[in-house]
Amino acid sequence: MDEFNPFLAMAERFETASDHLGLDPGVREVLRTPDRELTVAIPVLMDDGSIRVFKGYRVQHNFLRGPCKGGIRFAPDVHLDEVRALAAWMTWKCSVVNIPFGGGKGGVFCNPQELSPRELESITRRYTTSILDILGPDRDVPAPDMNTNEQTMAWIMDTYSMHQRRTSTAVVTGKPLNLGGSRGRKEATGRGVMISCREAMKVLGMRPEETRVVVQGSGNVGGIGALLLHREGYKILSLSDMFGAIYNEDGLDVPAVMSWLQEKRRLEGFPGATAVPNNEQLLLDCDVLIPAATENQITSQNVADIKARLIVEGANGPTTAIADRELEKRGVMVIPDILANAGGVTVSYFEWVQDRMGYFWTEEIVNSRLEQTMVNAFDEVYAKSKEHNVSMRTAAYILSIDRVVSVYRLRGIFA
Ligand code: GLU
Repeated sequence: MDEFNPFLAMAERFETASDHLGLDPGVREVLRTPDRELTVAIPVLMDDGSIRVFKGYRVQHNFLRGPCKGGIRFAPDVHLDEVRALAAWMTWKCSVVNIPFGGGKGGVFCNPQELSPRELESITRRYTTSILDILGPDRDVPAPDMNTNEQTMAWIMDTYSMHQRRTSTAVVTGKPLNLGGSRGRKEATGRGVMISCREAMKVLGMRPEETRVVVQGSGNVGGIGALLLHREGYKILSLSDMFGAIYNEDGLDVPAVMSWLQEKRRLEGFPGATAVPNNEQLLLDCDVLIPAATENQITSQNVADIKARLIVEGANGPTTAIADRELEKRGVMVIPDILANAGGVTVSYFEWVQDRMGYFWTEEIVNSRLEQTMVNAFDEVYAKSKEHNVSMRTAAYILSIDRVVSVYRLRGIFA
């Protein structure tokens, strides 16, 4: 098996959980197969007058529990198998936290660093127009992901609304606050990571003040997660960006790091920390490791040197299936992506609900409902892991697949 193919990695976890559930081959095939995959060409007039054609995807993995839900990423190396895996992970993620959505994911093959804001807007609007027929508040509801943000969501919402000839805010989530966005959405993934980490630590009998954390990343997930953990008293030893990591064995002043990053656009040079190359960061001595960057970071190549007792997956798919087996053997607890980073999609659900009601909640309400949802999901997954004597990852898959299967049995096959 290709260790680095995310779809195969997802499929392996799916099969393991399906074995525990005793699912028959037909049901497995239904749940394994993406419902719809759309590939589109996106011609764009560039600032220099040339025309370029970008490639875009939207995969709808499964809609049994509700409209498809999931982000859109802009990346130079996005490929269909990755989007497929990410779409399936969204199905399981929405099911783990028990929100009424299926899973979808989109991607545009481009390098956002090299594109002007106007070019990014053109790509976004043309991509939206090309996938318009399968979008909608009751069909498929995108959200931000790698290299997309509130502005991207505002363009998608506007493009969709112009075609519908009415303003339809609930077609995407992660929008700006004054355009149907939800309070707390921006921080929600990081907040969910913090909550998952805290709950796992309780189970392991670890205390925040004595806990050294390494965070791979410093963006919307890693940066905000680190800030919230720092506020709870954890020692954040290291953060990273695409250029490298910074490290301080006594703990970083995370708010100062975040201000530095906002001003300088990179971590490098932050005073009071030493530089560490990215490939060495994951191997630093620590208690908790939070990979919050991208896929395939903890692999057969480096797993033997990982020192953390607890891994909380802020990113989607940061651990390969081979590395997973090794960590399980060594008794390292891994809080899987589909649970640990589900805070984002949970508040996306709250945003969608608020848009449809036209009534907006306070940040306290959003955060307390998020807290309740995440703690509940954690407890349910933990109970499943005890019941089946399996890892938290397999338990999360068992819980979520079982929920989708029960809906499938109720709905039946339409023929
Ligand atoms: N892109 C985020 C994720 O992977 C959020 C998805 C959403 O809010 O729909 O979970």
